[in-house]
This record gives sequence, C-alpha cells and structure tokens, in this order.
Amino acid sequence: MDIRTINLDEIIPKTLQRKDISIPNVPEVEIVRHFINLSQKNYGVDTGIYPLGSCTMKYNPKINEIIARLPEFSQIHPLQEKNHGALEIMHRLSESLEEITGMEGFTLQPAAGAHGELVGLLIIKKYFENKNLKKGKIIIPDSAHGTNPASAKMAGFSIIELKSDENGEVPLDQLEFAMLEGDVAGIMLTNPNTLGVFDRQIKEITRIVHDNGGLCYYDGANLNPMLGICRPKDMGFDIVHLNLHKTFSTPHGGGGPGSGPIGVVNELIDFLPEPFLISTKDGIICRESNDKSIGRIKAFWGNFGVIIRAYAYILALGADGLKKVGQIAVLNANYLRVLLQQNYNLPYNRICKHEFILSDRDMANDITTEDIAKRILDYGIYAPTIYFPLIVQGALMIEPTETESKKSLDSFVEIMNKIKEEAKDNPELLKNAPYRMPVKRLDAVLAARKPVLHD
Ligand SMILES: *Cc1c(COP(=O)(O)O)cnc(C)c1O
Repeated sequence: MDIRTINLDEIIPKTLQRKDISIPNVPEVEIVRHFINLSQKNYGVDTGIYPLGSCTMKYNPKINEIIARLPEFSQIHPLQEKNHGALEIMHRLSESLEEITGMEGFTLQPAAGAHGELVGLLIIKKYFENKNLKKGKIIIPDSAHGTNPASAKMAGFSIIELKSDENGEVPLDQLEFAMLEGDVAGIMLTNPNTLGVFDRQIKEITRIVHDNGGLCYYDGANLNPMLGICRPKDMGFDIVHLNLHKTFSTPHGGGGPGSGPIGVVNELIDFLPEPFLISTKDGIICRESNDKSIGRIKAFWGNFGVIIRAYAYILALGADGLKKVGQIAVLNANYLRVLLQQNYNLPYNRICKHEFILSDRDMANDITTEDIAKRILDYGIYAPTIYFPLIVQGALMIEPTETESKKSLDSFVEIMNKIKEEAKDNPELLKNAPYRMPVKRLDAVLAARKPVLHD
C-alpha cells in the first residue's frame, strides 16, 4: 500500500482523527543519545556475570533469537488454516521434554513457572474430584520457592509447611506425620531445593506420599543441574513444571514472555488443559474437549516464540550437550562455593547442585547482605539473589550457570574477597554503597507503597 494514496477518512472516522499531536520537537541526535544512555544504564547477561540464584541467568545463544524471529514463525496466527508445521514443532518439543523429564504427556501453554504451578495444582484437584475424594491440603517444605505456597492457595488448597532438617532436607518422620492428616492431596517439592542441595531421600519421600494416596509435584523451574542426569519421573514424581525461559534459552528478567510447560504421567494426561495435541497416524490433531480436562488456561497455544527457542536450543545441544550443561552448571557452582567459603559463612556445607547459599553471619562491623549486594554493583556486576530463601539469615543465593568461564568466576571471587576486606577496614564504604549507580539506596518500603513512576 502506498501511504500517499490513502484516503484517511475511509479508514478512520473523522471523529477519531486528531488535528494536533504533541510530538516533542528534538533533534535526532538527542533522541539517539537518550536511548543509548538508557541502554547503558541497563545490565544483562550480555554485559557480564549475573549470579541471581534461582533465576538461571545463563547466556542465551543469539542463533535462537534469529530462529524465533523468522517470519515463518513470527508472522503466523493460530487461527490460520495451515499451521501444521507449528503444531508439529510443539509436539516434537513436548516429546523432547518427555524424554528429559520421564513424563508421558505435556502441555506447553502455561505462560510462566508460577502459571504452570497453578495448572499443575488444578490438575491434582480435578484428579481427586474425579475420584470423589476430598483432599484439600498440600505439603510444602519451608525451603520451597515462594510461588509454591502462593499457587497452592490460589488453586484452593491449604498448606502444611514442613520444616527442613539441618541438612536442608525433608525429615521423613515429619512427612509421615503430615500425611496422616488424611485429606492431603500431595507434596510440592523442588529438588535440588532452593538451598541448592539435592534431597538424597527423594525416593523415600515420593514413596511415603504415594503410599498415603497423594500425588507428587516437582517444581522443575531450575532443571539445569538435572539435565541428562536425573529425571523427575525416576525420582517418583507425577507432575512437573519446567521454566523454558530459565533452562531452555529465553532471555528473561525484564518480565518478558515466559513459558512454564506442565508434564504429567499417563494417569493424568486426560486432565491436561485444552486444546491438547495428539499424534495420530494421520498427523498431529488437536483435542478440543474432554470431560476430565481442567479446560482452557491460556489463549491459543502459549508463548510460541519461547517454544521455538527451546526447541532450537535442545536440537543444537542434543542429549550429550544437555548433559554437559547440567554437569558444568554444577561444577561452576561448586567451584565458587569452595572458593567463597574461605571468606564467607556457608550454612549448608555440602556439595551443591546449580547454586548455593551464603549468609552474612560472619561479617565484621554488622555489615549486612544488603550492604554486600549494593557494593557488588559498584564493581560493575549484578548481585546474587538476597534474603531468599527465608530460612537462612541474610541469605546470598549464588547461581553462576554453565555459561560463565573460569576467568569470569575468578573475577567474581576476587570482588567478593575485596568486599570482605572492606567490611573489616572501611565499613562506611559498604553502608553507603552503591556510588556508581544512577540511583543510590532506595527506601524499598516507600518505593513499593508510593512508587514514583516518572521524573
Ligand atoms: C523462578 C522459579 C519459579 C517461578 O517461575 P516464574 O516463571 O517466575 O513464574 C518457581 N519455582 C522456582 C524454584 C523458581 O526458581
């Protein structure tokens, strides 16, 4: 269409046309500088290490971005006639995820990890309703990600919190005791948990829950360390959600689209949301209605761009590559753990998986985790997750991921060691940090209550 030949009145009614629009009259160079300056205030995985525990801020290969943007993927609509290719890709990704987790059916529709949790819990609910069993409670260990109890509550369950033992694991006697309550629908567990440690009794845990008529839900948001090494199904789980935007290569952190697929064992496949893809000898078909299904949970098929990236990532790495991701993620975390433990308090002193937790317990001059995190920013890198999990005093949760080099890890250790020295010699320096950031210490409470959204 040639814009000069358009008759505006034919497209937009006169009443909706504006005579004046106030567009700022600024030279191009000023606009360019404004946006370049903004971009330089930003920080991302492409800038440097991003050890934000539980978030898996790994480098995302650019080729996956290029593939997701191909017009064949980005310019299609779910209602158009010829979508077989897109359906086939979704089906193949589901098959790959089945192989990775051991599960027998997947939906790719949930838009994020927490959304996947909600869907998984609704499936558990429907499963018991279908059996005419009243089960209104879910067991969640106190080391769980905060979204777990929130999702369980949203799905209408009440929560039984289990206190972790001194190794950061689920105490079996407490679990057995909790299961005796009778109306327990199951357990929601992350393994490795948010302390970064693997619960060695996992098969006992899932057995106890199953023996008492419950289901086992696996929070697989951080599947990185398990890839190719250990499968949720083999640990005894019935439902799992994955975060494609963490483990399978989609840039995240800015609140962009995510994807939290749900995988289930055979017995639960009928309860998955609709539409649901089924492979037949005539190709992939789409199940639209099924009495047992929890129904629709998202428009169309989910965030397709994230699905494409995940599929491209899995194909590029293959089974061996994925296993290496897991191994190096664990190696990198343990390398940092051993070096940092020389100068920082490590509450759970054992081999970790993808991440580990330090505490501010041994800091000189009452230096807190917040002081440490703010000072880290002055050294030009991103800080770890802080004050989570709640069961560790002043937690610093560090997840380097597999894509950091030894050089990058060493320089992180060097910065952390310098900060430890500063805490001893010049505590005021830490208490007033950061100095090099566009904004200094914020009043976090005031910022949440009365946000200033423009200047
Ligand atoms: C990130 C995360 C979630 C939530 O995922 P979102 O996509 O942010 O909703 C849940 N559980 C664990 C363990 C996580 O790390």
